[in-house]
This record gives sequence, structure tokens and C-alpha cells, in this order.
Amino acid sequence: MKMNIIVLAKQVPDTRNVGPDAMTPEGTVNRSALPAIFNPEDLNALEQALRLKDQNPGTTVTVITMGPGRAAEVIREAMYRGADGGYLLTDRAFAGADTLATSYALSVAIKHVAPGADLIIGGRQAIDGDTAQVGPQVAEKLGLNQITYAEEILSCQDGKIVVRRHIDGGVETVESALPCVLTVNGSAAACRPRNAKRVMKFKRALAPMELKPGTAFADLPYADQYEKRPFLKIGQLTCADVDADLQQCGLSGSPTKVKAVENIVFKTKESKVLTGSDEDINGLMQELLASHTIG
Ligand SMILES: Cc1cc2nc3c(=O)[nH]c(=O)nc-3n(C[C@H](O)[C@H](O)[C@H](O)COP(=O)(O)OP(=O)(O)OC[C@H]3O[C@@H](n4cnc5c(N)ncnc54)[C@H](O)[C@@H]3O)c2cc1C
Repeated sequence: MKMNIIVLAKQVPDTRNVGPDAMTPEGTVNRSALPAIFNPEDLNALEQALRLKDQNPGTTVTVITMGPGRAAEVIREAMYRGADGGYLLTDRAFAGADTLATSYALSVAIKHVAPGADLIIGGRQAIDGDTAQVGPQVAEKLGLNQITYAEEILSCQDGKIVVRRHIDGGVETVESALPCVLTVNGSAAACRPRNAKRVMKFKRALAPMELKPGTAFADLPYADQYEKRPFLKIGQLTCADVDADLQQCGLSGSPTKVKAVENIVFKTKESKVLTGSDEDINGLMQELLASHTIG
């Protein structure tokens, strides 16, 4: 079955390698101190999409990412691994989006670029915001079924998908009609590596905003290149391009405000070694009750 698959991928700061300079004094993320990477579970999601593409000739895998110009890097990375292309959803009006505004923007973009998509696959969770809300919210906004915590697509044919989910205490096998939204766990199969031939083919694939004066690619004759080699063009979409309601985008569409982010580094003097004795356990319970951690 020939399918049209959308993969949602986010570029995130590598919060797995947080050092003391990871936060600014104002409590925001110091992005320059953390390398920008492909959100790890989005790579698991991409692999599931690419497996379907391998099994179903003629299937297309298109990546959508919302972020600044540099986020086009995740689209190129996905193309190196087998995706057909992608769209960078980028506009000042999208800045400061919480999960509600993010899922709104992604859902209008999906309606715009792939109104007949069979499957929308994302990671379970992004490692910076850590909410795991975006996938389910996209499904809700598009009025589609959703399967979360997916670990493996067991079959996908005749308008139906069967998926093994990893849930607390076991696994579950579920079936859904297509189209549907899937969010994939980090415990799913790892993404295949870059393919050297694809790296050579797509290393100069760029979104138009990456061609701005002052950027590394500014002097390349890309208007010509895009004509001759359309596969080098990464799509770029603004709020207006996807006909998004400005009130539902970015800060104005975001009821959640992150007031502060604290970088907590535990020091030895703040830890306590307890035995399993009644006395120690009682003492711990008293402390936790007194600090309102429990109770
Ligand atoms: C420290 C911190 C705390 C935050 N706390 C909250 C909060 O409590 N409530 C809130 O609403 N927002 C919060 N945010 C904002 C939130 O991170 C962003 O709104 C973000 O755009 C989406 O949420 P997420 O990263 O949690 O995504 P998740 O819901 O964890 O992401 C799930 C999947 O959705 C897809 N996806 C998510 N974002 C994008 C994107 N930009 N482009 C393409 N695909 C995407 C990916 O496939 C991803 O794996 C917080 C941000 C930070 C940095």
C-alpha cells in the first residue's frame, strides 16, 4: 500500500549532557552551551516511518519541524537517513509556543502540506519540554485516532494499523483505522544510520531562509539550483502560508507560562545514607511530612 507519512521532529538542546553553564542567570536555557540535536525519540519515530516506506514502494516520508532556521538541520539529517524531504515551519509568530500552540501550528501545517496523510508519527516526548503532550494534541486537533507509547508497527495494510505498545507492566497490541497519529518510545528500534550516498545527494538541501546574506551558503546560486534540482529545496512555511490563526500561535496562543527553570545540582552534603531500620524510616517519613513533600 502506497502511503503518505508525516514525521514530526523537533530540534532540541542536548539536555542529556547538562553542565554547570546550561542555564543563564535568568533561568532560561543557555542554548549556546548545549549542542542542538535531533530529539532522540523522533529518530525512533523516523525509523518506524522508514520501515513502512521500505515495505510499501511509492510511500513518501515527509518531516515537519517547527523552529528557527537552524532547525532545518533535522530535516537534512532525516533525508540522509531516508526521508524524502520536509518542511520547516518558521515564523516569529510561532515563538514562545507551549504545547497547545505547538500542536495547533503543527496540525494546521499537516492539513496544509498533507491533507490526505495516512500516518503522522512523532516521538513520545521531547527532551527539553518533556511533556509528551504534542502528539496526542495533534491527533485531537486533526480528529484522528492516536496510539501512544508505540514500540513496533506489526502490520499496516487495508486501511488498518496494528501496533505493539509498551505500557507500565507489560505490552499491549492495538489496532486502529488509518489515518492515525502514533507516538513512539525510545525503546523502539534505533534509527538506521546516515547513508553515505544520501549525504552526498542532500548535503546542500536548504530551506530558503538558510540562504540569507551572511550565512555559509549565501553565495551559492540556489535559485538556479532549486529549478534544476527540486529535491534540494526544503520547504519553508510561515503562519500565513498555512493559514494559521495568529491568536492561537506562539505566546498569544499559549496559556502555559514557564515562570522559572532551576538547575539543581545535588551535592554530597545534601544527601543522607539511611539504613532499612524502623528508626531511619520513621525519621525520613517525619522529614517528608514536615516539608510537605508527602501527606
Ligand atoms: C523547561 C521547559 C519546561 C516547559 N514546560 C511546559 C509546560 O509545562 N507546559 C507546556 O505547555 N509547555 C511547556 N514548555 C514548552 C514546550 O516545551 C514547548 O511548547 C514545545 O514546543 C512542545 O512541547 P514539548 O517539548 O514538551 O513536546 P512533547 O510533547 O514532549 O513532544 C512530543 C513530540 O511532539 C513532536 N514535537 C514537539 N514539538 C515539536 C516541534 N517544534 N516541531 C516538530 N515536532 C514537534 C515531536 O515528535 C516530539 O517528540 C516547556 C519548555 C521548557 C524548555
